[in-house]
Amino acid sequence: MDQMVSSAIEELKKLDKEIMALTQTMAILGWDQETYMPTLAVEGRADQLALLGKIHHEKVTNPRIGELLEKTGSTDSNPLGEKSIPQRDRALLRALHRQYSRATKLPTRLVTELAKAASLAQAVWVQARQDNDFKTFSPYLTKLIDLRKEQAGLFGYEDHPYDALLDEFEPWVKSAAIKPVFDNLRDYLSNLVKEISEKPEINNNFLKKTFPIEKQRQLSVQLLTDMNYDFNRGRLDETAHPFTTTLGRDDVRITTRYQRQWLKSGLFGTIHEAGHGLYELGFDSDLKGSILGEGASLGIHESQSRFWENCIGHSLPFWKHYYPALKEYFPHAFEGVSLDEFYKGLNKVTPSLIRVEADEVTYSLHIILRFELELGLIEGSISTDDLPELWRTKSEEYLGIRPKTDADGVLQDIHWSMGAFGYFPTYALGNLYSAQFLNALKKELPEYEKKVEQGDLTEVLTWLRQNIHNHGSIHSADELCRKVTGESLKAHYFTDYLDKKYRSIYDL
Ligand code: ZN
Repeated sequence: MDQMVSSAIEELKKLDKEIMALTQTMAILGWDQETYMPTLAVEGRADQLALLGKIHHEKVTNPRIGELLEKTGSTDSNPLGEKSIPQRDRALLRALHRQYSRATKLPTRLVTELAKAASLAQAVWVQARQDNDFKTFSPYLTKLIDLRKEQAGLFGYEDHPYDALLDEFEPWVKSAAIKPVFDNLRDYLSNLVKEISEKPEINNNFLKKTFPIEKQRQLSVQLLTDMNYDFNRGRLDETAHPFTTTLGRDDVRITTRYQRQWLKSGLFGTIHEAGHGLYELGFDSDLKGSILGEGASLGIHESQSRFWENCIGHSLPFWKHYYPALKEYFPHAFEGVSLDEFYKGLNKVTPSLIRVEADEVTYSLHIILRFELELGLIEGSISTDDLPELWRTKSEEYLGIRPKTDADGVLQDIHWSMGAFGYFPTYALGNLYSAQFLNALKKELPEYEKKVEQGDLTEVLTWLRQNIHNHGSIHSADELCRKVTGESLKAHYFTDYLDKKYRSIYDL
């Protein structure tokens, strides 16, 4: 590598660090806004965030970055740059190239129009949902879709305009790769749901008793401590919608939400976000504060939260250890409930109309439904006016239930009103990746369930750290998946996992 190239890389690293510092500073303002900010501070905060957003955009689109990338040989057709450059630096070039080219391809006019259309649409959506009135919302949604199509055209794509939007959340992933995986998954899941619905309903009423919030807080702290979540580098707070955010190189905060009469909300809200938090805390220290010190993709990020929430937190070995402790926290709720009954109740499958309330089996069906509609909307084969009826038909076909209102159907999620297309698939990808990773972990640590049964979660975390967390976004999601599991994403790991688990729970 010659001198000019290495000094270009050094300068890029400096610029990258500044961008990340600014991103994390914005995250501090965002975290504060969601947690402790007084309500009337909202306008002032919006001004502060808008200013930082503008500076951030200027830094990301700084033409100097383009010049420097060119010096390293990083181009559209070869974003990794010259072969003589060390691997980690090539990964940095690829990530910076992607960030720079996406940001510079978007004219300010379109950014402003999108922001304006989204904020209008969101306000209309809130009212439309309340009034169960899709017709009013429809033209606003159409406008957003048109703008996103324009954006896809500007970004460019090979096969499908949707790919340009998906790329925002799952870099370098194509809908043509996801489609067959989702098709398999959909057919498998909707059959399983049918089989389960013919079985007697499982009782989970004990999860709906009264659970004092203070006790739930203590339980969350115990679980986080056992999961090795480092309170010297993070915090747990409470918000309306749980989230995880990184505010600095050693500052990864999570939030949860407790409900007095539904234990699963707080319990799994905490475990889920801890999964995200452990991922962010686990990046190699020399990646922190750089664009490579981020998750490989939203799908991979979600695989880490789902791994802890479902593969561990909903497993029998986990509760063999924790159920006695849980009974001490809430003695009245679980009187006379055996471990087996508790485990089954925790894993009860109930097809519901609402995505956020869905269980491990039905969740991905909600996502696949949205993915299919998004593909159609972006390619133009579906018009917004068709959406409510298509939603109802697909709901019935996949989940066996038909929403009576659009509020419980097409209007239930905020995402489309924000103009977010391409985001939903990442949730289902997370489920799929988590099961494929679990399979790889089992091969290397065949005894891991015994450790979990003893309440020792360190071995599992160490494996995740070494195989997934440490690498940040050096590898793309697909590269990482192949590195860890030997192959690209396949649906059968997840369906095998569900099959084994739910055939036993439901005696199928
Ligand atoms: Zn998540």
